[in-house]
Amino acid sequence: MLPFRLCAFLVLGLSPAVHAALDITDRFHILLDETTDKDQKKANGNCGWLGKANFNAIWNECFTLAETGIKLVDDFHSKPEASRLLNAFFKNGDDPLTDNNLALIRGTFEAVRDWVEKGGRYNYGESVEKPYLYCFHTWLEKKTMQDLAWDTEGRNLMEENPAGDGFVATIEDVADYREAQKNQEEQLREAGVKNPKVVPYWVKQQGVYIFDQYYGKDKGYCTSTGSGAATQHVTPASTITLCPTSLGTTNGALSNKRVVKLRSPGLTPKRRDATQVGDQQLNKLYPTSITLFHELFHLVLGNEETVPDGGEVYDLDEMLKLDWDKASQNPETYANVAVAYDYTIHSGEKNGWKVEFYTGYTTQG
Ligand SMILES: [Zn+2]
Repeated sequence: MLPFRLCAFLVLGLSPAVHAALDITDRFHILLDETTDKDQKKANGNCGWLGKANFNAIWNECFTLAETGIKLVDDFHSKPEASRLLNAFFKNGDDPLTDNNLALIRGTFEAVRDWVEKGGRYNYGESVEKPYLYCFHTWLEKKTMQDLAWDTEGRNLMEENPAGDGFVATIEDVADYREAQKNQEEQLREAGVKNPKVVPYWVKQQGVYIFDQYYGKDKGYCTSTGSGAATQHVTPASTITLCPTSLGTTNGALSNKRVVKLRSPGLTPKRRDATQVGDQQLNKLYPTSITLFHELFHLVLGNEETVPDGGEVYDLDEMLKLDWDKASQNPETYANVAVAYDYTIHSGEKNGWKVEFYTGYTTQG
């Protein structure tokens, strides 16, 4: 009997912690070239400058955060710290969240967790081709409307004139591309960009064009102020672009990276009565993985389901004011409660009190 009991004990005791490490290359096309060549580091959206090991650590943290989000919902009725946190970030008016509210939050975390673990369809079930993950905008090759148009194989595209004669077309000659340029201009105008200039970008891995803003000579999405990360579903396989500033570089210089781990020992939340209030805010404790985790909601559920009316909210204080409709569609809200609850679970207890973030900063005792 003894060996059997021992064995059963071991299995029960160890199984929750022994989740096989996930490899990001199973889910994404990702270039992880750890070259030291300054120009090559940034080429083709390379992620290798962050280090393969760092990237996989971030990837595994995304899984942990999704699982923590699910646990948070499951603890709602049994643990006051779970209900305080959820009721603060996802509000159902002045009432506690209903079972329907909870089911939606849980389902959202679950969709992300399942995709990270098993892959399959994403973008609300509409996409199936393995997506791309980039760590700079250099996967996009900037073109002008006057450049020759290429087909999916990168060969010159032929068009026909009214007389039926074939000619080598420029991008501007192709009606669909003119239309795409106009649509993108319209969208940017609606988003508040004045006189937007839209240019074609060639995506060589997929043999298609994307139309986006012109950010300036030798510049791109990641060099524009305020750009952190983006997920798009226009190309056959969707893409996530993480900019260096959202991957722990303080000034965008790739040599200046600082990956902050989840539950980083240097970032232990302080007690409510500690003097430095600034360091106690949840947004000072974000792990580097929070950005990729956030983008996964856009990837898995699609951008339509994950952008609330009036746009996404990233500011912690503003997030805490969102009503149910907006909060439940705001990826950063999910990301914040997952990070917060991870700290609550792992920061220990003092006199029966845990570290909590339902106010946006640490409270304890
Ligand atoms: Zn977002």
